[in-house]
Amino acid sequence: MRSGSGLDGAVAAVGFMEESGLFNCGRGAYLTAEGKVELDAAVMSGEGLAGAGVGNVTSTHTPVTLARWVMENTKHVLVVGDRTRDYVRLAGLEVEELTPSRRVAARFEALQREAKYSEPLRTVRRFEAGDTVGAVALGSDGVPAAAVSTGGTWMKLPGRVGDSAILGAGLFADSGLGASCATGTGEEIIRVGLCLKACEFMGTDDAQRSAARAIGHITKVRGKGTAGIITVDLKGRVGAAFNTEAMGRAWFDHQKGRVVAAVGPDP
Ligand code: ASP
Repeated sequence: MRSGSGLDGAVAAVGFMEESGLFNCGRGAYLTAEGKVELDAAVMSGEGLAGAGVGNVTSTHTPVTLARWVMENTKHVLVVGDRTRDYVRLAGLEVEELTPSRRVAARFEALQREAKYSEPLRTVRRFEAGDTVGAVALGSDGVPAAAVSTGGTWMKLPGRVGDSAILGAGLFADSGLGASCATGTGEEIIRVGLCLKACEFMGTDDAQRSAARAIGHITKVRGKGTAGIITVDLKGRVGAAFNTEAMGRAWFDHQKGRVVAAVGPDP
């Protein structure tokens, strides 16, 4: 960030994507096996390891703002379920009825034809993940931060919470290391504590090598097609790695003075 905190930057980027309806979060979120929207999100600032996640949010399309409120106003790091509704107004948001976009509803119908709700555990494996949004940023004060938001995996069981609500799994930030944020199959990301791992690697390596090492680790222990990660280190260098076919990402290139974006391998 040229000015302002990394947390402001990361939350603004994620909030923009929640609003867009283009990704698996906010207005474009994937649906549970019952066809409902249940959102997870989290924020973390490297300063004092401050952070919080929210899970199964059903009454605001911008759970990242709710997660920030939990972080700044409570002592908790995880709040989930229907009662998150109680905090929506306190966080300065409107209580909403979350309905799927037309594009998402059409996809749900197609998936439903392929799978039966009577076999939900199989569907969770079959329909996997993708398109969760996240951002990492180094504040002008040198403090790294991360934010993440998702509808979770397609056809997830109602009540399921994924990595994007959990510090150390879907995101991590530490003032002595850097920040990271993940996408992919939440169950696998939680198992290996992927984002904590990437940050620990930044104790000795740069952002890019740390991202690659973290993805190397999850590929080794849980297989390919499981995750992608973005990182920023304390020098403001960014990294990205994934073991899926592609991962959409964009970053500000300070040397070129412009935003660079990629979906497949680095440009
Ligand atoms: N990681 C998310 C989850 O499992 C899904 C995704 O990345 O799209 O909830």
